[in-house]
Amino acid sequence: MKIIAADVIVSSPDRNFVTLKITTDEGLTGLGDGTLNGRELSVASYLADHVVPLLIGRDPHRIEDTWQFLYRSAYWRRGPVTMAAIAAVDVALWDIKAKAAGMPLYQLLGGASRTGIMAYGHASGRDLPELFDSIRRHLDLGYRSIRVQTSVPGINAVYGVAAQPGVDGKRYDYEPAQRTPLPAEEDWDSRAYLRHLPEVFEAVRNEFGPELPLLHDGHHRMTPIQAARLGKALEPYDLFWLEDCTPAENQEALRLVRQHTTTPLAIGEVFNTVWDYQTLIREQLIDYVRSAVTHTGGITAMRKLLDFAAQYQIKSGIHGPTDISPVGMAAALHLDLAIHNFGIQEYMQHGALTNEVFRQSFTFTDGYLHPGEQPGLGVELDEQVAARFPYVPAYLPFNRLKDGTVHDW
Ligand SMILES: [Mg+2]
Repeated sequence: MKIIAADVIVSSPDRNFVTLKITTDEGLTGLGDGTLNGRELSVASYLADHVVPLLIGRDPHRIEDTWQFLYRSAYWRRGPVTMAAIAAVDVALWDIKAKAAGMPLYQLLGGASRTGIMAYGHASGRDLPELFDSIRRHLDLGYRSIRVQTSVPGINAVYGVAAQPGVDGKRYDYEPAQRTPLPAEEDWDSRAYLRHLPEVFEAVRNEFGPELPLLHDGHHRMTPIQAARLGKALEPYDLFWLEDCTPAENQEALRLVRQHTTTPLAIGEVFNTVWDYQTLIREQLIDYVRSAVTHTGGITAMRKLLDFAAQYQIKSGIHGPTDISPVGMAAALHLDLAIHNFGIQEYMQHGALTNEVFRQSFTFTDGYLHPGEQPGLGVELDEQVAARFPYVPAYLPFNRLKDGTVHDW
């Protein structure tokens, strides 16, 4: 079998997505997700200008060889743009291989290790009544694990908090990327946040009881000592995890956090290779790996990363907000089902227009996802519908402190 075409499709149904479609001389096609929120066109260019010409004529079955060729032959390694481009190729090739085998992809990864994939959803509120309402709505949707994000008195706009409560069936998920010509400016105050958050978790535990798994995302905003203090303060509320408590480019910072708290730690959605985790995994400084298949070089690289983590009893918590396309989500679900050290899967539901562009075959039942039994990934791209939604510039926000200093967002 030979690759005869590879097309980069940029579409913006509810948001921007970069999809690679690889076509073989036997008529099989494969899809890969290369979406990098706020920097989509850089991946589209990397693929179209520098990768697609190298793919034509290659044997699509040689997935490992193609991965190594793209990673090493560029000479300039790693980085989110490069690794998202490699991921798009890798996932498309796995899609083709599984279709050629007539099997759902998870079968080629060793078969199912479980019957369903526990998913968590994103609840949020500007105050406790709104937050409780949001948690109840997620429970009604079937979620059995909930991420809790809340406004903080004195801060105008906080990451993870939906702008309005859901009314009249309108979506009210938190969607940070905005279709504006400039990134939105938000504000931040770590001390106010540290004072407020434990009170919120106490109230949530009092309202919903001890059983419900609760998660929280710190979104890289704390110093190590602040993160240590927060982890300790949240211990009575038995979090499933505290995510991205520090920026963690400095992996050693997590040593300090770990020394002070038994709250489980998850990190890595902005990482893109196993090298970002070397110290974190070897020294068992984290409990969950948060990388996205889409940003970490695809299934080939994620499998190796998660196998490395498994040796240290560290589990998966694959990144899955709506800026991962349905193709990237499907890749995550097949991997989730197959690996032994699965932890939890993030699952924000895509909008109606996105689901028109990408026809999916996964199911979500009683809190558990399943990728389905169609050969390959189980996702089809409707290119005619995709063409109706051209790229729209959109940016993630950024933060300033009260004195004007730019802070981690
Ligand atoms: Mg996160």
